[in-house]
Amino acid sequence: MPEAGVAIVGAGVAGAAAAIRLAERGVPVDLYEAVPEPRPIGAGLLLQPTGQRVLAAMGLLDEALALGTRVDRLFGDTPSGRAVLDMSYRRFHPEAYGLGIQRGALMGMLWRRLRELGVRWHCGAAAQGFEQDADGVTLRLAHREPARHAALILANGSFSRLREGMRVAQHGRPFPWGAVWTVLPAPPGFPQIELRQRFRSASQMIGLMPVGKAHAEDAERGINLFWSLPLAELDGWQERTGLDRLKQQMATLFPEVSPLLTGLRDSTQLREARYADVWMSRWHDGRVLAIGDCAHGMSPQLGQGANMALIDAHELACEAAGDWPGVFERYSRRRRAHLRFYGQASKRLTPMFQSHAVVAPWLRDRFFGWGGRLPYIHQQSIATLAGVKTGWLWGRLKL
Ligand SMILES: Cc1cc2nc3c(=O)[nH]c(=O)nc-3n(C[C@H](O)[C@H](O)[C@H](O)COP(=O)(O)OP(=O)(O)OC[C@H]3O[C@@H](n4cnc5c(N)ncnc54)[C@H](O)[C@@H]3O)c2cc1C
Repeated sequence: MPEAGVAIVGAGVAGAAAAIRLAERGVPVDLYEAVPEPRPIGAGLLLQPTGQRVLAAMGLLDEALALGTRVDRLFGDTPSGRAVLDMSYRRFHPEAYGLGIQRGALMGMLWRRLRELGVRWHCGAAAQGFEQDADGVTLRLAHREPARHAALILANGSFSRLREGMRVAQHGRPFPWGAVWTVLPAPPGFPQIELRQRFRSASQMIGLMPVGKAHAEDAERGINLFWSLPLAELDGWQERTGLDRLKQQMATLFPEVSPLLTGLRDSTQLREARYADVWMSRWHDGRVLAIGDCAHGMSPQLGQGANMALIDAHELACEAAGDWPGVFERYSRRRRAHLRFYGQASKRLTPMFQSHAVVAPWLRDRFFGWGGRLPYIHQQSIATLAGVKTGWLWGRLKL
């Protein structure tokens, strides 16, 4: 076990999971979260077999399976019926599946485990900056005394400004597209086993994913609705487009969504999502480490962000022995191939799904639609989705 305690900034998936895994190993943890009263909210997530392994190691997988919904297949097509994506987890492994889960349900489980482990959790504590020296790190907090810790883990999301305090080459570029999303009650008979997408080129995209219950007492199982929008249209969409026109656009692109849309009555039900591509030459700087979206934010098209955050937490705890700079350096080395592969894959593949490009979606239709019928290409595509790849040609993550 490393000397003295660690501060973690951000109680999202990455920060909460890292706090749990380190506390399980006996590391004293202080978790600082800017929001005064965090509530279990957020978009529906598809957790891959790798992320599920981490939940199993925390003893939370059975509960997650009861709350969420098994997703066996991803299917996407165009209005003319041309299949663009058709991937089945079973072809990756006979017992593999994705787990559609509401972020709120996942956070509820993680936060409960934090409390059970006695992690000191400081809410309404926004970190503003830090200084490190040979013995530790001083964390500056808004409206509070500075806090001194042996090490600092930054897990405060893609738009972190704290990351800039790390002496590491880096960039965080806002992605030119975002989305509106909501979770709606599944109408009777609505398909509950596949993630369904419909594309018009790459400029229009609707995604539907079963995500189960918000909490154990919830009687309804939900469907996550995702509608892609360029940032210029996302800003002020209520005034410019309005809910009725947006619903009309959704139903025109994908008429089967109509029964679900009866549950969408108010524009406040739709939440906006913006994301950023974050790149760092390494993820550690002495006694400071970046994890989760803060370290490697990417678009949600590959369904990997929360998954990666869970893996980061798990791999960090595996290295948590000895002095902190050594722990963080070993962690960076251990995560390198996996994070590099998914960073590159996200950069190359996202324009095929969210852009005004012409060539990229054309290639997508040929590669995933036609090429996807070839066993090798299907295998590589589903292994990428499952979150296990560490290189374009070979290399598998061992958890
Ligand atoms: C629409 C959408 C769909 C997605 N779908 C999927 C999917 O299917 N599968 C998947 O794996 N991932 C998906 N993701 C990505 C996933 O949600 C993120 O990758 C994941 O939640 C990142 O977790 P995080 O803990 O790194 O960051 P965040 O969840 O952003 O958490 C950061 C935390 O830090 C806190 N914070 C920020 N600044 C400070 C500060 N200065 N001081 C203290 N606290 C601070 C914030 O309040 C927040 O609680 C999706 C994302 C979106 C937007």
